[in-house]
Amino acid sequence: MPGSYWNEEIETLSRDGVERLESERLPTQMAYLYANSEYFRARFDQAGIKPQAIKNRSDLAAIPFMEKHEIAESQQQGQLLGINQCATQSDIIRVQATGGTTGRPMRVGWTRQDLTDYCEVGSRALWANGCRPDDLVFECMNYNLYAGGVSDHMCFENLGAATIPYGVGNSLRLLEMMQEIKQDISIWATPSYAIRLAQMARENNMEPRDLGLRKGFFSGEAGMQVAGYREKIEDSWGLVASDMYGTGELGMHSGECSHRNHLHYGAIGVVLTELIDPETTEPVAFEEGAIGEFVYTSLRRQACPHLRMRSRDLMQVFVEPCPCGRTGFRFKTLGRSDDMFIVKGVNVFPLAVQATLAGLRPRLTGEFQIILHRPPPIDYAPRVLVEVSSDFPQNQYERLVADTMNAISNDLNVSVSIELVEEGSISTEKKSQRLIRDY
Ligand SMILES: [Zn+2]
Repeated sequence: MPGSYWNEEIETLSRDGVERLESERLPTQMAYLYANSEYFRARFDQAGIKPQAIKNRSDLAAIPFMEKHEIAESQQQGQLLGINQCATQSDIIRVQATGGTTGRPMRVGWTRQDLTDYCEVGSRALWANGCRPDDLVFECMNYNLYAGGVSDHMCFENLGAATIPYGVGNSLRLLEMMQEIKQDISIWATPSYAIRLAQMARENNMEPRDLGLRKGFFSGEAGMQVAGYREKIEDSWGLVASDMYGTGELGMHSGECSHRNHLHYGAIGVVLTELIDPETTEPVAFEEGAIGEFVYTSLRRQACPHLRMRSRDLMQVFVEPCPCGRTGFRFKTLGRSDDMFIVKGVNVFPLAVQATLAGLRPRLTGEFQIILHRPPPIDYAPRVLVEVSSDFPQNQYERLVADTMNAISNDLNVSVSIELVEEGSISTEKKSQRLIRDY
């Protein structure tokens, strides 16, 4: 299809085809790293490996992992982009920030070619999501510093969608603009913003379904995976809500298709992604349902390349073919690998607890915190504080505790001890800490 970002040549490659493409690109990239960065040169030299010896993904295993905090620390010591900067400042045309690991924003730079790749990969993901050149998109992400603003905006433009750089805040004005534009519109936002905006519409005597919002592209939070959340957005607005995934370091790279069977990995040929066991760092095979941490190696990146960078994000992968025709792997996020804990041999992810608790709304608010009071091995039932809705009658608390414990035990196969706490007593900050290691 002309003007299409359905990249058939790349997106229908077999697993062998993907590995062949990676092998074509790895040697040039490895030579580039060696020639342009002291940091990368030292990593090859310490491992006793010549860059030209890295010919495919299994050769990469000889190179030690890279950690985000190494980049963050070097930036705090005064380097503009940190240890992995390979391009000169004259070749870098954009600098933006990503959340980082310590709460301090971490800078990321991009050359013109990097941004061409960013847009190509982002457009593939958006195309999978159902975005098309005749869409009119309100971009309601933060343009201030972060990738969700300008860089993701450019992906929509690259695809051909008319994109309105709205940003965050001034929501009433946004609703009024929607009301004026008498045609179908789309939105790029966080899922929680879509919920808040619908509330605000009602508070101002507007019916969200009458405002013409028909497609929603959402990213930035785990919201879309929480049972009931997507349905709530779709029902409020009468739109089709699609899930996207990206990070500040890599850009927006993956999106689900209309079959809604998790995110199609879109950075094929641009980023080589390995799957490892976060505890042992051993490779995990890409098999249906396998769980592991993503490790990223750039295949073309010039400004701030990654070489086996640990994401600390835990993913579940799916490899069965999708009816849409894309043949690469799909994935869903399970949370931070640092947040996974093992109770009597069972891996527990706070995101899975969240999904179960969402099923108990409206009796519970869905807010919770897990507290581990002794270091592993965790041979006890972890404490889980859950918020009870303020209008739920106290004389039924005992029954609610039992129902909650049963639900978690059924879904996750672990025993926990449930403590009900007052509505509003657990912070609702976007990245509120779900797991407390109190030892
Ligand atoms: Zn698909």
